[in-house]
Amino acid sequence: MPLGDGEMDRYVICAHCNRRITSREDLVTALMLFSLVPYHAGCYARALRGCQTAVLGNEPVNGLGFTIGAGVSVLLSVWVFFSVGPMFALLFWIPVTLRLYSYYTIESRLD
Ligand SMILES: [Zn+2]
Repeated sequence: MPLGDGEMDRYVICAHCNRRITSREDLVTALMLFSLVPYHAGCYARALRGCQTAVLGNEPVNGLGFTIGAGVSVLLSVWVFFSVGPMFALLFWIPVTLRLYSYYTIESRLD
């Protein structure tokens, strides 16, 4: 069955090898400068060791460490909200926003 344009848009393409990522287990989302990019798990490791390392975040956004960090950050935001001010508290929501953005724009496209 031929795929429509909409179907192609749902494909997750690895930023390192330009091939399709088919499973969530094989997916790593990472920050590259100011954008979120998908990688195969193996390609991410190679990209980190290669020349992209200067601009590539070394903590996968869909990894356990980042998810825990995002949770801690939300707790900190409550403390900062009351002790420093609401504007500063907003900064602590950036990791959570990134984590959710990764989930809804990339991870949810895979089984
Ligand atoms: Zn790849």
